[in-house]
Amino acid sequence: MRNLASPKVIKEILAENEFRFSKSLGQNFLIDENALCKIIDNSCINENTNVIEIGPGFGTLTQRLCLNAKKVVAIEIDSTVIPILEDNLSEFDNVKIINADVLELNLEQLIKDEFDGGDIKVVANLPYYITTPIIMTLLERKLPIYDIIIMIQKEVADRILAAPGKKDYGALTVAVSYYTVPEIVLTVGPGSFMPPPKVSSSVVKLLVREKPAVDVDEKNFFKLVKAAFAQRRKTLLNAISNSGISKKSKGEMLEALKRAGIDEKARGETLSIEQFAQLSKNIY
Ligand code: SAM
Repeated sequence: MRNLASPKVIKEILAENEFRFSKSLGQNFLIDENALCKIIDNSCINENTNVIEIGPGFGTLTQRLCLNAKKVVAIEIDSTVIPILEDNLSEFDNVKIINADVLELNLEQLIKDEFDGGDIKVVANLPYYITTPIIMTLLERKLPIYDIIIMIQKEVADRILAAPGKKDYGALTVAVSYYTVPEIVLTVGPGSFMPPPKVSSSVVKLLVREKPAVDVDEKNFFKLVKAAFAQRRKTLLNAISNSGISKKSKGEMLEALKRAGIDEKARGETLSIEQFAQLSKNIY
């Protein structure tokens, strides 16, 4: 097995295949052995685990996943990567490579077709240009996934883990903690990748909750969260009464705020997920 976490080996593969990295597909390949080991350790994969990997690239992470998992399904959009990936994974019989855009795939069907019992995990070094759509697709579709271990931009990881009232706290924070318990595993600099991206990166682990963090009407809850953060500088009362999310008058909204125990001058960015839940039960 070629050690793909080595810059020398990646350079050899580039030369052998006349391959050029695609910036627009977010192709920054991991060359940091320590980060690779931490991702694998924190994934806690064993012979009963099924893994979905998004964006395997040359297969650096895929190889390690195949060594530990029951089965790995690797979804890669770039058809020019596929022959190289197949070659690097030729010794494994527990991997299926799918040449597709992950956002276009019927993941429910894929899971039914490819996995046969055992936990399902998503492990990936994500393409950064679509980090948030991928995370939200995995969560909103309520796929039977146990946890998600992903390398993402540090800035997005900071938003996911932010506390109420902090500048990074926003709709993404609330959505991710509605569906999961998030944790930061590791932060690395641009030098961990080839070519280096412009930003630092973090590995986060999202443990998918058996039930959402709060018991709400999901559609109404997220409409409220979106409206509250759409006008961050306004008070929550002004933001939601201008947003058209509910037929209630401003006066009625003020009453709803009081019933939910929220100060009338509060801004949306200071509300905890529980407070958003309480308010969403009162304003519709
Ligand atoms: N896993 C490899 C590694 O760690 O070295 C490559 C990671 S690289 C950051 C992201 C990979 O995602 C690239 O191989 C890219 O071609 C692929 N990719 C980009 N957009 C994709 C999409 N919509 N669906 C599936 N794969 C995608």
